[in-house]
Amino acid sequence: MTHSHVAGSIHADVASRAPGWLGLPSDVNALLPALWSDNAGKDDDGVLHVAGVSVSQIAEQVGTPAYVVDEADLRRRARAFATAFAGWDVYYAGKSFLCTAVARWVAEEGLGVDVCTGGELTVALRAGVDPARIGLHGNNKSSDELRQALDAGVGRIIIDSFDEIERLGRIAEEMQRTPRVMVRVTTGVEAHTHEYIATAHEDQKFGFSIAGGSAARALQACQDHPRLELVGIHSHIGSQIFDTEGFEVAARRTLRLHADFAERTGIQLQELDLGGGFGIAYTSADTPNTPDGLAGPLRQIIETECSRLGVAVPHLSIEPGRAISGPSAFALYRVGTVKTVELDGGASRLYVAVDGGMSDNIRTALYAAEYSATVASRRSDAPPALSRVVGKHCEGGDILVRDEFLPADVAAGDLIAVPASGAYSRSMASNYNHVPRPPVVAVRDGVISTLIRRETIDDLLALDVG
Ligand SMILES: *Cc1c(COP(=O)(O)O)cnc(C)c1O
Repeated sequence: MTHSHVAGSIHADVASRAPGWLGLPSDVNALLPALWSDNAGKDDDGVLHVAGVSVSQIAEQVGTPAYVVDEADLRRRARAFATAFAGWDVYYAGKSFLCTAVARWVAEEGLGVDVCTGGELTVALRAGVDPARIGLHGNNKSSDELRQALDAGVGRIIIDSFDEIERLGRIAEEMQRTPRVMVRVTTGVEAHTHEYIATAHEDQKFGFSIAGGSAARALQACQDHPRLELVGIHSHIGSQIFDTEGFEVAARRTLRLHADFAERTGIQLQELDLGGGFGIAYTSADTPNTPDGLAGPLRQIIETECSRLGVAVPHLSIEPGRAISGPSAFALYRVGTVKTVELDGGASRLYVAVDGGMSDNIRTALYAAEYSATVASRRSDAPPALSRVVGKHCEGGDILVRDEFLPADVAAGDLIAVPASGAYSRSMASNYNHVPRPPVVAVRDGVISTLIRRETIDDLLALDVG
């Protein structure tokens, strides 16, 4: 589809203000399939539908802003990891987005659940997840959280400090339990998006350093503790990672630690967890791997390294979060105001303000994350205009989508959808400016169901007891 009335000179001017990765769309109405869930698409009128429901119906039923999850898509992504990594354990990283329904879905698709607070643990237990299939993370778990985990009988606790070894050991003794523990190590690999730094110094709060020697001491301390059952080593190198190189270096260093421990003690640890961090597409510039594309190289790396070191391949696990919950949901907003801001040299940018913002998605402000957006309630024949989708908060940095081409006639009342919004958006939401947090709805086979209802100002006032 083309817009013949758009002059070439306008193209050039508009495009010159866009970041290099953002191409001028040939059809500003079109969706890039890689950014959307399996069952999302636009009809002939340009209205976005998901699993048989239109965004107009969703907006009418639950209002905006709202998070919309394609249930079949989320389940399909969970299942794809379970299938590709058959023989391994796959734990869904609950911190990316957790509610009882999602915990139940991933458990039904064969996954365990990772939690990192007592709150997340409570949600997973409430959902009926088998405690033996729950892992507890966290660099500063409280005594109450550790007691809760032991009481529930979680399958593994990932140890993050010497204080914790002492604290958990004491609580386990009190409660007469012997928890299964893994030791979280730092490998010196720190991976982010398209790059990784294999020489990164380990100046961060998580884990025990392999290079610094504390990892080996932590393994020994857990092994020596009569109330802790040491099952293995855990490494998580970062998030939104696109290739397997960083995992390869981390696996090599982790397995060397595993082999050294075996040589020193005669004990081959049973398990190794490689963490999560598998990247997803937020914009046309992102080219994520598939679970199958990850599983092959990871298996190969581990097998090669184990045979080189002369150790048996341990039982393996991974912890994808974003790659399961992220692409399966979009955020739905309504436009309230549109402003044209003149830039130098005669160019301009549309500031499209919606009824949410940094309180429901902090990622753009927090880590300069990039997103995409589309007008979801109609098609437009207007030319593409360089746009910025912003929120309603009292902050200049309240940006949801920094750079996107939207139709130049985008206007108050239009619905805007932001794909790949299922992970680290609602889960990191706040009440900044006393804005109630949006609901999360699931859509499946033409049916909308509320997973988390919209917060109300009365919910917020109920906390204000002064
Ligand atoms: C955050 C985290 C994950 C999940 O990361 P994603 O990028 O969402 O896949 C897995 N394991 C640990 C220990 C984490 O902290």
